Amino acid sequence: MGIACTFERAEDGMPEIVVGAGRIRLVQGDIVQAKTDAIVNAANASLAGGGGVDGAIHRAAGPELYELTRPFGGCATGSAVITGAGRIPLPTRFIVHAVGPRYSTARDAECAALLRSAHEVSLRLCEEKAVESVAFPAISTGVYGFPIARAAPIALQAAMEHLKAGERSVKRVVFVLFTPADLQVFSEALASLGQG
Ligand code: ADP
Repeated sequence: MGIACTFERAEDGMPEIVVGAGRIRLVQGDIVQAKTDAIVNAANASLAGGGGVDGAIHRAAGPELYELTRPFGGCATGSAVITGAGRIPLPTRFIVHAVGPRYSTARDAECAALLRSAHEVSLRLCEEKAVESVAFPAISTGVYGFPIARAAPIALQAAMEHLKAGERSVKRVVFVLFTPADLQVFSEALASLGQG
């Protein structure tokens, strides 16, 4: 892998990896409660709202979140846009609306590249806003059908590559996994990247 990092456990026992001056950690729960400067939404290309994470974030942020996304007129798959956080309380100030791909086995490599770029663009947008902490859900692994064991190393590697570049405002990347099974998959992926 070639990325120097240390696999650790945070005080609460959750897996964590130190990359350069930053950290990647995993938690189980609801991303709306992440209490990071920015939270990432698994949006769709129309930015018109939906179920899953999108529904939870829009419910918590209130109808003004639609007003904030509407001017963009949508977002390409593999990209992202950033808005304010509506009614989600501080410290969360931004929502990144990232559009992951709908998975298809026949287009696996293309889907992997799009998932990676959705993470990369999200992190770049966080830098532009001087965000220090950002929470990601497991983008594309719900309705969009991306196998989570395939998605986890792609998402984690994008975060590691971002942090290792140094001189970053982002210092903490948290992956918020919805179920214990999803947390387990990400933990195993993080441990094997940590050995790389
Ligand atoms: P996509 O359309 O990108 O697949 P989904 O919202 O359907 O997006 O699912 C993405 C992932 O987010 C799934 O693993 C799902 O279990 C998880 N998820 C759903 N609700 C939440 C939530 N409130 N917080 C964190 N993760 C969630």
